[in-house]
Amino acid sequence: MSDVRQFLLEISRRMVELGLNRGTSGNASVRDGESFFITPSALPVSVMTPESMVCMDLSCNVLQGGKPSTEWRIHRDLYAARPDIGAVLHAHSTFATTLACLRRDVPAVHYMIALAGGDSIRCAPYSVFGEQALSNDALEALRDRKACLLANHGMIALGHGLDDALAVAIEVESICEIYWRTLQIGEPHILTSQQMSEVRRKFADYQKRNPGKWATSASSSIVKAGK
Ligand code: ZN
Repeated sequence: MSDVRQFLLEISRRMVELGLNRGTSGNASVRDGESFFITPSALPVSVMTPESMVCMDLSCNVLQGGKPSTEWRIHRDLYAARPDIGAVLHAHSTFATTLACLRRDVPAVHYMIALAGGDSIRCAPYSVFGEQALSNDALEALRDRKACLLANHGMIALGHGLDDALAVAIEVESICEIYWRTLQIGEPHILTSQQMSEVRRKFADYQKRNPGKWATSASSSIVKAGK
């Protein structure tokens, strides 16, 4: 039994338990050397097993398992283009998707947006699901970032590993909810690029003092609690 497939299943379950995904929506993958494991197409997480996970190489060949998620192109293209990335999560979570339906970038409404890799979360233009155009636009929206929205569709979160990517996904959904809520009652103040530089400096300092801990502690404890 591959630990990688088991962990991929656990993270997929956590995404459902946390309300990030429902039914068969969303998907997840993790890099494994020169290939990657991805959740299967059209199978609810509740009936998935580690054996359900599909192994693909970067040349788009299925090495093991059945039919991969329809969004396999996004996962494959990210692993090929971003050596810094070891895990990719895709969700149709309510608040991120609500803002994605407005085709709106999320500005620095809260300092924790720095966890997504920049001063904003970009929204990629609309393309029909599963198409190469969607993957191309997603990669562009994710340039130098760890998260983006997909217009009229959902969000993508990236990480060095699955727990890191889950922490990003949780934070993105939370920031989208805060942004949505503030818009109901007024116009939020947006942090300036200077204020965000200060945040990034502090984050970098925290990481230096706590190597390996940044961005993983919250989701790791969630995953453990869910076992
Ligand atoms: Zn989707």
